[in-house]
Amino acid sequence: MNEKMNFNPGPTALPDEVLTKAQTGLNKELHSGISILEMSHRSQEYQLIHDNAKSELRHFLAVPESHDILFLQGGASLQFTMVPMNLLSKYNTAYHIVTGSWAEKAFNESQKIGKTQLLASSKHTTFDRIPKRSDWNVDVFNTPSYLHITSNNTIYGTQWQDYEDLPDLPIVMDISSDVGTKDIPWDRVTLAYAGAQKNLGAAGVTVIIINKELLVDHDTERPIMLDYNAHAKKGSLHNTPPAFNIYVLGLMVQWMNQEGGLQEFEDRSNKKSELFYRIIDQSNDFYKGHAEKSSRSKMNVTFKLPTSELNEAFLRKANEAGFVGISGHRSIGGCRISLYNGIEMEACEKLAHFMETFKQVHS
Ligand code: PMP
Repeated sequence: MNEKMNFNPGPTALPDEVLTKAQTGLNKELHSGISILEMSHRSQEYQLIHDNAKSELRHFLAVPESHDILFLQGGASLQFTMVPMNLLSKYNTAYHIVTGSWAEKAFNESQKIGKTQLLASSKHTTFDRIPKRSDWNVDVFNTPSYLHITSNNTIYGTQWQDYEDLPDLPIVMDISSDVGTKDIPWDRVTLAYAGAQKNLGAAGVTVIIINKELLVDHDTERPIMLDYNAHAKKGSLHNTPPAFNIYVLGLMVQWMNQEGGLQEFEDRSNKKSELFYRIIDQSNDFYKGHAEKSSRSKMNVTFKLPTSELNEAFLRKANEAGFVGISGHRSIGGCRISLYNGIEMEACEKLAHFMETFKQVHS
């Protein structure tokens, strides 16, 4: 079989070391005669796995003690509902900045729950940028309120470069596609959430990092499975957790800590993305980037070739050469190279070389 290099937008590549260790979780002998798939989630052995994943993650993301970490299910998509359902009893308005399809889904779901206002959107320019502060609609906020943003827009390949321009409101962030690649200003972020399947492991567990101040309220009318407080009180063991996925998350985060931690992965994602943006910028528009330069994502590099025929040929040849998962999302077409933490620099260099050669042959 050809070597496959996985650039999927998520789920995506995990390091071989993590995959090999994950397999030991299925070995009964290594786990007192019961594999992790079969273990009671009330056992002491599972509790160690659960606590280990949480403490590795707290260390990796430098999460302060003011915030709790929850492991829930339902994907980041369920958070589009849970966030307003829990927060709109404390805050009276949810402001949203819509920078892509996932951000738009979060905005739409929030409107079903309570008072939700659009602060800014880049939909009119096909989500090619993060709106500038001067483009925002509101300057006087209906307080108390919070602001929801999506830190990285997986489909369009844009990313907030920093959070300095954000208004002085508690920030809620969907960090699904860039968690673990840059600092998060925890003093400003009241809640952050991410599905694990890009930078933190396998699909099936969602991480919620929440300021404990939000956990005091207990609304008995709120369905218990959608209540952060209920999950926090039970240490994310209110019901059966996705034990194996939490185990894999622990392995992935432990691996990232051992490799050098958050700063190391920020440096790696800078290097990986620079490699591709350099090719795009030096290609005379043979590879035309979708994102405005000042909003470019270090996680998802999106671009198109000059014609749909060339685009198809590029994707076909790339696939034959072993590069998997680089076709653009169906809503914008083109190509997308996703550069999450499990993807090695060596694979990126090979893909970059492939792009250079393809351009030389076809331009
Ligand atoms: N937010 C972002 C930024 C995403 O990229 C995705 C999935 N690609 C989601 C939310 C939805 O995540 P899930 O499939 O875990 O519900």
